Amino acid sequence: MTTSLKGRRALVTGSLQGIGFGIAEALAKQGCDIILHGLGDAAQQAEACAAMKAAGAASAVAYTHDLSDASQIQALMKTVLAAGPLDILVNNAGIQHTASIADMPVAKWDAIIAINLSSAFHTMQAALPGMGERGYGRVVNIASVHGLVASAQKAPYVAAKFGLVGMSRVAALEYAAMGTRDKGGVTVNCICPGWTETALIEPQIMARAAAIGGDRDAGVRELLKEKQPSQRMSLPQEIGELAVWLCSPIAHNITGAAIPVDGGWTSQ
Ligand code: NAD
Repeated sequence: MTTSLKGRRALVTGSLQGIGFGIAEALAKQGCDIILHGLGDAAQQAEACAAMKAAGAASAVAYTHDLSDASQIQALMKTVLAAGPLDILVNNAGIQHTASIADMPVAKWDAIIAINLSSAFHTMQAALPGMGERGYGRVVNIASVHGLVASAQKAPYVAAKFGLVGMSRVAALEYAAMGTRDKGGVTVNCICPGWTETALIEPQIMARAAAIGGDRDAGVRELLKEKQPSQRMSLPQEIGELAVWLCSPIAHNITGAAIPVDGGWTSQ
């Protein structure tokens, strides 16, 4: 059994920053060909591609398709698959908006469901058949603790993440028998992070800080105190290392899992 990910071709959505960048960089260190993606300008794309090559990527390209639009996702996947087989798909791009159901703008509901859930359906629909034919493939979907438990003020986010966990389990069943131990099989799993240091949660940190009249550090402490027993945030590279392990052929029998990285949040 080959244990190396060298030469594997990996697409990570939403990877110009945050958790996606951490995952792409961890895969780059393994010698993968990295396909970056995210909303960003040419300078950001060039900088991220250079960082991937510096980390050890065999190659790096970047795309900026808008994942709220199904036709753009299909165009992205057509471009990616026309250039070669895709071995690893990480559905990571996501957005957040916090408000009660009564106050949630309908446009936010639609955008969060489209970007955080439906986009993963479209990318998986395009990528999985080829993975099945080749007998090796990895889909790693970045869900959240909010794919396992709820919090108030997050109806579309929680609905999308529970949906992502459910859809991943369906895909895991459909592809469970593909491939062999030697080839590595085709697996579909979710990583479910708790609070992780990225731009996504900055508005929530600053809202907590404002509520108690404290600084950013005080805002972080307030967030952690409420739900994350370790009282420590995760870092994007820590999520990246778990994604690498899931992509390794040794993990051929781990499929349909939703793995929390949450400092005990969902154990309570
Ligand atoms: P981030 O805001 O730093 O990154 C999000 C990425 O998604 C960016 O690259 C952005 O360009 C991309 N994106 C957003 N809208 C897009 C669109 N319409 N089309 C294409 N790309 C788009 O956030 P992050 O914290 O790194 O989040 C990554 C994933 O991790 C998300 O799915 C998020 O829900 C999940 N997550 C984050 C945390 C956390 O605490 N940070 C916790 C649990 C789950």
